Amino acid sequence: MPHSESQGKGMTRTNMTTLRALALFGLLALTPFATVLLTTDASAAGAPPNPAKATLELAKKQFALPPGAAMELSMRGSTSRPEQARDAAAAFADVPSDQSVVLTEDGRFRLKTRTLYPGSIVFSFLTVGSPQGSSTIDELQWRDGTEISKEDAASARKDYADLLFLSPALLLRDALNRKPVSKPAARNAEPGATQRIEVSFKDAAGRPTTLTLDTASGRIESATSGTRRFTYVGYQKQKTLLQPTRITQYDGDRVATRWNDVTTLLMPAPSPEVFNLPDGYTEAADRSPLRATDLGEGAYRIDGAPSGYHTGFVVGDRAIAVFDAPVSVEEAEQVKAVIEKAAPGKRIAYVVVSHPHGDHVAGLRAYLKDGIEVVTGPGAGVALKRQLSASAQLKLREVNNTDELDLGGRTLKLYAINSTHASSMLVAYAPASRTVFQGDLFYLPEVGPVPPAFDGAGELSTLITASQGLFVERIVGVHGRTGTLDDLNQSLALRKGGGFAR
Ligand SMILES: [Zn+2]
Repeated sequence: MPHSESQGKGMTRTNMTTLRALALFGLLALTPFATVLLTTDASAAGAPPNPAKATLELAKKQFALPPGAAMELSMRGSTSRPEQARDAAAAFADVPSDQSVVLTEDGRFRLKTRTLYPGSIVFSFLTVGSPQGSSTIDELQWRDGTEISKEDAASARKDYADLLFLSPALLLRDALNRKPVSKPAARNAEPGATQRIEVSFKDAAGRPTTLTLDTASGRIESATSGTRRFTYVGYQKQKTLLQPTRITQYDGDRVATRWNDVTTLLMPAPSPEVFNLPDGYTEAADRSPLRATDLGEGAYRIDGAPSGYHTGFVVGDRAIAVFDAPVSVEEAEQVKAVIEKAAPGKRIAYVVVSHPHGDHVAGLRAYLKDGIEVVTGPGAGVALKRQLSASAQLKLREVNNTDELDLGGRTLKLYAINSTHASSMLVAYAPASRTVFQGDLFYLPEVGPVPPAFDGAGELSTLITASQGLFVERIVGVHGRTGTLDDLNQSLALRKGGGFAR
């Protein structure tokens, strides 16, 4: 698609979005001031007055926003990600994160996120959304390349509703538009308890949500939605706006995300350009159907999986070795059926696990039933057992240095790497087809230029050239397109020293 055409399309889409947003905004502005329903459990004559109304009035003053105001928030902190730690013994990775968000009253948003994963892997995404849908691009172009991924209206509304939890002022404004029900908190009756009220409503995504407000200050202390709870601490008046500087998000009892240094900026209605994506991105291609791509000499790669992940496999005279089992049992069942069709009558004897991060092994159960051997790097077993049900029959082989799987007439060589991304990393090499299978060490996107490498690419290069001297024609990544040694070298040359500013 020529550059100018792509730009033209982008403009048209943005104009449509803006028109719809303006229409919606008009409707909201005409809505009579939201009715606040007060429960009247203390309505009997002579009962003490219900504090809910007074607290809510105080909160409205505290968190007042200019009509139609939009807000920009920025924050940094860390997110706890399950099954992404470098050390297999750790169930969670503490992932440094920062983000900035623009939110309008009519449901438009712009979210820039940056996260740092083990191995100095930086994700940097930009999402722009409206009640009609959202689009996301990978600003560093290594994971999604130059492709735009789109989400539908329901998903965009949920994302918007989630982002409102970052600003109690926005949350309260939203709540007041949604017929909230207010009542004194049940624990007020406990001796010496701080007096609080609870304000309940259904959020922009239709989810029951409850705000807890301190009666004395009128401040929102926490918000609960399903299993998630947000606590708001360190309130500061930032210009005219009351905003907590620290927000902690719990998932059940676990801290999921901690935001510090939260700053806000009130802005008049932002210009439409704020919600434009930069040039140079195109709509993501449909890569279905699910199929096995023959790489020659018994080596294959799965293409067209719903997740976009590429399982690899090598077929010998007697047996098949599969490389990785992403991302769910359901998808792995589909992939397994394609493998069995590509190599009829042959048994899947091994599943080689590149590393035990959740997205690479979540489909393992699809293969375990057949009594196959699961082959991993050193120490990965503890992570697999944690992720599999206790009843799973796990026949495990941990490779501490190198190993070789005999598939009958063909072999698959295995090399353990103590990687900065995952300490129990395993790389597989099929000598007959000169194919390397690897997960998360070296990234090429499906579409887009060769991106600068992260630490893992150097580790892979050392293995291939310095330590093992492998003849390599292709490098199959669990993510992205298949590459060559030239691609790997180019990616390493592009690598910059830039770290992650904290
Ligand atoms: Zn990983």
